[in-house]
Amino acid sequence: MTSEHSVDLSKLQALQSKLRQGHLSGKTKPEAQRYTLLSRLEALVIDNQNEICAAITADLGRPAEDSIIAELSVVIEEIHTAKANLKKWMKPRHKWMPLVLFPSKGYIAPVPFGVCLIIGPWNYPIQLLLAPLVSALAAGNCALLKPSELTPRCAQLLAQLLPRYLPDDVVQVVEGGAELSQKLLELRWDFIFFTGSTAVGKIVARAAAQYLTPTVLELGGKSPCIVDSTANLEVTARRILWGKALNAGQTCVAPDYILTPRDNVQPLLAALKKVLAEFFPEGFKSSESFCSIVNERHFARLSVLLNEHQKELALGGRAQPSSNLIEPSFFLFDSSSAATAAIMQEEIFGPLLPIIALDARDQAIEFINAREHPLALYIFSADNNFIENVESQTTSGSFVANDTVIQLATSQLPFGGVGESGQGSYHGMSGFNAFSQWRSVLKRPFWLDLPVRYRPLRPWKMWILRKLLKFSEPAKVSSPPS
Ligand code: NAD
Repeated sequence: MTSEHSVDLSKLQALQSKLRQGHLSGKTKPEAQRYTLLSRLEALVIDNQNEICAAITADLGRPAEDSIIAELSVVIEEIHTAKANLKKWMKPRHKWMPLVLFPSKGYIAPVPFGVCLIIGPWNYPIQLLLAPLVSALAAGNCALLKPSELTPRCAQLLAQLLPRYLPDDVVQVVEGGAELSQKLLELRWDFIFFTGSTAVGKIVARAAAQYLTPTVLELGGKSPCIVDSTANLEVTARRILWGKALNAGQTCVAPDYILTPRDNVQPLLAALKKVLAEFFPEGFKSSESFCSIVNERHFARLSVLLNEHQKELALGGRAQPSSNLIEPSFFLFDSSSAATAAIMQEEIFGPLLPIIALDARDQAIEFINAREHPLALYIFSADNNFIENVESQTTSGSFVANDTVIQLATSQLPFGGVGESGQGSYHGMSGFNAFSQWRSVLKRPFWLDLPVRYRPLRPWKMWILRKLLKFSEPAKVSSPPS
């Protein structure tokens, strides 16, 4: 492992060679070894949970409870699922072979890609590196992890802890920023797993294209949240605010904007105001109950939006530069004014939430379809027909009715985006599949070698072949059909 911030290409090549040796030795492939590696990773998280939470708090100003719920428990759930299902996932899947291939047996088998690069973002600095690592190890790979430079304590802690628990020819960590990331992307990897912004995702995809390296891109974007007039507003407000307040809205699947019929705006706002007071009885004076904005740059970016939309501000709006705190703030827009509003141009990634008034609820579908496919689409409604209409007429990475963000609480549902919000998915079995190549295998004995397919292809051979291939002769048409 290295903790140097400027690493030259030859040092990175040396780390990669070490991982390649580990991979070629075959040590990560047997089921028992994968199980052991996953158990060691589990021990790393459990033994060091306090240090990890403290590093996250130091980097992000996030309460430790939130890190347990939204970060460490996700990794542990991934490990438990992988350990419980490893045998099943690794099993070759046998396929029926057609008569034309008799005698033979055919199956598909998961093969580890080899040496993987995993690049992480800052917003969940531990989970978004270790959860992909669980998938990588479960699938029998070796991996190099590149944490975000914006969460240096977490990066440093991972660089210290991983070599204590996992062999250095199986997992490596390098610390650094965009420059290091670009150097890593110059190398040839067997697989690249990237989590971060859409803009950098495109850079990664371009670099991967050089060697046609397979990738999973876990990106961001604006996730809409429809609130229908039939929704129970008290529960709706609680669940929206829970998802938005987590990590101060710095969550890739946080609701980014609300779409609701005009006559529902004030009742929804009243419900949000009530829940806000319940959730934060002490207000926003410290980061004990609410996460800070990650750094001055992101605080300034959100402050610009806050200032620019003072006219539309309906609730909240206070900011504390000394501790980078911004309270959850709600803005009111019309669907026409929203289109050009600064807050609607990019992913907000903070505790600001525009509420967009619609003339009719079905307008929500049009609004969403006029934009990039979101990572998540939320709908609050008691009308199942409306929920099904929205589900069938839109595209998104995930679709959740009557809640937000909790789709990540299970490893049973693949997590990933579509279009600008990402490519591929992981968590549970989909993570195992993402880090595996499903190889087609066909095995034949020598004991039967019918001459029928061999040249010269006489008419009698073609007759048999046609039967075997179920490919009929052209019909003899005497006159055109009337
Ligand atoms: P980012 O794209 O700026 O950085 C992600 C990683 O890429 C970091 O490790 C960084 O060092 C590296 N990087 C930055 N610039 C680079 C460049 N020019 N070339 C190569 N590598 C570069 O993203 P971020 O600010 O860390 O994270 C926020 C974004 O990530 C948001 O858009 C959010 O929605 C998205 N995100 C997505 C998911 C998901 O699972 N889909 C999860 C968390 C965050």
